[in-house]
Parts: sequence; structure tokens; C-alpha cells
Amino acid sequence: MAESGALTDRLREHRLILRYADEPGYSQDIDCYLRHGGYEQLRKALSMDPAAIVAEVKASGLRGRGGAGFPTGTKWGFIDHTKNRKPVYLLCNADESEPGTFKDRQIIYKDPHQLLEGMIIASYANRAHLAYIYIRGEMVRGAQILERALAEARAKNFLGTNILGSGYDLDIFVFRGAGAYICGEETGLIESLEGKRAYPRIKPPYFPAALGLYLCPTIVNNVETLCNVKHIVEMGGAAFAKIGTPNNTGTRIWCVSGDVRRPGYYEYDCGAITLGELLYDVCGGIRDGNRLKAVIPGGSSAKVLRAGEIYRVQRKKPDGSAEEIEMRLEDLPLDFDTIAASGSMSGSGGVIVMDHTRDMVECLSNLSAFYAHESCGQCTPCREGALWMHKILRRMVGGGARPEDPQLLLDVSGQIAGRTICAFGEACSWPVESFVAKFREEFEAKATAAQESESLSRAC
Ligand code: NAD
Ligand code: SF4
Repeated sequence: MAESGALTDRLREHRLILRYADEPGYSQDIDCYLRHGGYEQLRKALSMDPAAIVAEVKASGLRGRGGAGFPTGTKWGFIDHTKNRKPVYLLCNADESEPGTFKDRQIIYKDPHQLLEGMIIASYANRAHLAYIYIRGEMVRGAQILERALAEARAKNFLGTNILGSGYDLDIFVFRGAGAYICGEETGLIESLEGKRAYPRIKPPYFPAALGLYLCPTIVNNVETLCNVKHIVEMGGAAFAKIGTPNNTGTRIWCVSGDVRRPGYYEYDCGAITLGELLYDVCGGIRDGNRLKAVIPGGSSAKVLRAGEIYRVQRKKPDGSAEEIEMRLEDLPLDFDTIAASGSMSGSGGVIVMDHTRDMVECLSNLSAFYAHESCGQCTPCREGALWMHKILRRMVGGGARPEDPQLLLDVSGQIAGRTICAFGEACSWPVESFVAKFREEFEAKATAAQESESLSRAC
């Protein structure tokens, strides 16, 4: 495996969104952004018909970078502007709180105007005149950077009335959340923005594109998703679609944390490198010479994958037909579809790495504490189930494991997924289901160890 500094051309990052991230002064000064062609794509977009921008975004194949990977152009196309008489809102979801995910904050810290330019173009395309950036409360510095960037953009008439003489009016405001994970769920975010407790709404039938903020059509997009918009306007949807692979277009920023030598965030074309190349070549391999044990590829809500397992995935052949092939974990190309075919998801791009020294019951117990704490409590299976699973796991880690615990965990998680208002139900049960299924022997060993220790203490 190549060492840092010796990366081949193929393994070198292709930075589209993070291109100027390390440019000095970029986050502090709009002039620096302007010197690098900043807001030129806004000028271009304002000369286009809004529907033509939506068509370009559809043609680009861009999929949402928040976690679900829903096609952005399709989402934008849900609003029927020939019939709609209500105001339209654009909301930027900057509540990034999925464990293992730290890309959006880097974009905000390092290139806030790229986000604003993307948001202004997206607002124009969706005919919104008011937009909000809902930023996670803990990101105080991010909120300050955005407030400053917004003031700079207003001063240059990139925001406000009659933007650049186009007749289009828009303002954008920063709204700081209070640090609850559920505020990142789009309908919880909308409730919070309306001044209420962030209880997610039931969807379907009504998605925010139909009934969102103040029951008006609302587009909710992630920070990284919105940054892509200016690049689509610049190069055109068809050219953008050539980056990456079919159905997995553009670049993605992978956030790598855990047991690698060089954790961090790295941007690559979708499908351009494999998981093994990311971990061993880009991130320098597993720390302390240890062996890879498991990876959660898309933030803590994604299912864990076990090293050494063979995954059957579908791949497109050059002639366009599909073939099913077997791959090791390390050989999986990093894109939406292959990771989904492996049984997990690329989610928010948070790659969490565990080496062979990790106790998987402890790892899951740690994750379960997060979900037990963050359940909003609105639905019983999630509120009670997340806490119950955490209590079982805490007891197991504390030496009180029972033989029935692995099955009990599966039973409880099976009663949550698919029975709740929002995807948090799946998010808290999938890790449990996959950890127990893939590392059952470790969960059973905890029970055996507890029994042995009890027999020993009785004998004494
Ligand atoms: P989802 O699949 O329900 O929806 C995805 C998007 O598509 C939403 O904006 C939704 O409104 C829209 N959509 C889907 N079907 C639609 C339809 N028929 N009509 C109109 N719009 C439609 O997923 P979700 O619940 O929004 O997101 C779940 C994901 O969020 C998880 O995969 C998780 O990885 C991720 N997540 C990310 C973070 C983070 O910090 N980035 C935090 C928590 C969760
Ligand atoms: Fe709240 Fe959990 Fe129900 Fe989502 S699934 S609404 S987080 S209780």
C-alpha cells in the first residue's frame, strides 16, 4: 500500500467542493472568493430561466449528500409552479449531527460563499424569496462565519432586492438549532424553525416539497448538495454527470474517523476509489499496525460491515448490462449503489473504522447511548426501544450479560424499524441488528464470561 506523499494520480483527491478549502483568507473575505470566479455562476443563473436550471440539475444526476441520496433535481421538480400560489422556501440543512460526519462544517468554515452562491441559485431556480440556513447550535463559529458572509453578500447585492439588476429578490437568514439530533430530520427541522418542539411529521403522504415550512412548498437540501449547484450551472448538467459513475455522479466528501492513521475528510469522484484504497492508501492504514475488523460506511445509522466477508454486488458492464460479482469489503467502490448493494448505505459519508482490538459490544453500547439520548420521544417503539436496547447493552458491557441478550436485542430492534414516524427508528435499530448479526459470537461470549464469573464467585 502506498504511503502518504506517494499517492498515484488515480488516488489523488479530486477536489471540486473543497477546491479552495485551504486557500488562505477564503472564509474571511468575499474578495478572495470573487478573485476565484465567485458569484459568476450566480450571474449566469440569473440570466437563465429557473426551469432550465432545474432541468440542468436533473440532467446532472446529483443525489442528496445529507444521507438519503435522493435525486436533487427530482425533489426540485415536485413543486408545480403553474399551480402553486404559496410562497416557496429553501432550507439549507446544516444541522450535521450524524456521528462520524464532519464535512458540512468544513465547507462552512472554509468556503461559506460557495454555499451561499449555491443557495441563491437554488432559491432562484425554485422561485423562493426567503431561505434559511439551519445550523447546529454547537457550531458557533460556523454561524458567525455565515453571518459575516451573508453581510458581505448583501453589501455586494448578491442578496437583497433586485439582485444584480435581475429583478429577483431574496434574503437568507441563519437559524441556530439547540443541539438536538432530531432537528436534522427535515420535518423536525421545519417544526423547530417554526418555533415548536422538533417533533418530526409523518411522511408520506406529505413531503416538505408539498407542505413544508408554514405548510408552504419547501425544499430542504444539505450543505454539500447545495454547493454542487454552482458547479452544475458552470459546467452544465450533462458534463457534471460525467464525473463519477452513472447514477452516482459528482464527487463525495468522505469523513474518515476511528482506527486509521490519518483520519480526516477526503473528496473523490463517486466510485473512483475503493474502501480499501481510502483506508490503506489515503488514510495511511490501520493504526498501530492493527488489523481491520469492521467499517460503518455512512454515519452511525448505517449497518456495520465486517472485514473478511464477501459481498455480492451488482456492477454495470461496459456494454451497459449488469452483472453480479463477489467482492471483499476492501474492494467495494465508494459510491451510493455499491455500498447499498453490500447491505449498508453510504449515508452522510461518515466512514467509521474499527480495528481488531475493538470490543463490538462496547462499540454498540456506545452508539446505543447516543440513540437513547437523542430519541425525541414522540413514538413509543423508538422512545422505549432505544432506551431498552441501551440498558441491555450497558448491562452486557458491565459484566451482567445473559444468554438470551443477543436474541432480545434483535427482537427489540425488530419491533422498532418500520413502526415509527421518522427514519430515526431505523437509524437506532439497524446498528443493533447488524452488529449482533455480524459479531454474534462476541455478544454470546459476553454471556458466557458473565456466567463463568458468577459460577466462580458462587464457588468461592
Ligand atoms: P427520505 O428518504 O425519507 O427522504 C429523502 C429526501 O427526499 C427528503 O428531502 C424527502 O422530503 C424527499 N422525498 C422522498 N420521497 C419524496 C416524495 N415522494 N415526494 C417528495 N419528496 C420526497 O430520507 P430522510 O428521512 O430525509 O433522511 C434519512 C437519512 O438522513 C439517513 O439515511 C441518514 O443517513 C441521514 N442523516 C444524516 C444526518 C447528517 O448529519 N447529515 C443526520 C441524521 C440522519
Ligand atoms: Fe421521534 Fe424516534 Fe419517533 Fe423519530 S422515530 S419521531 S425520533 S420517537
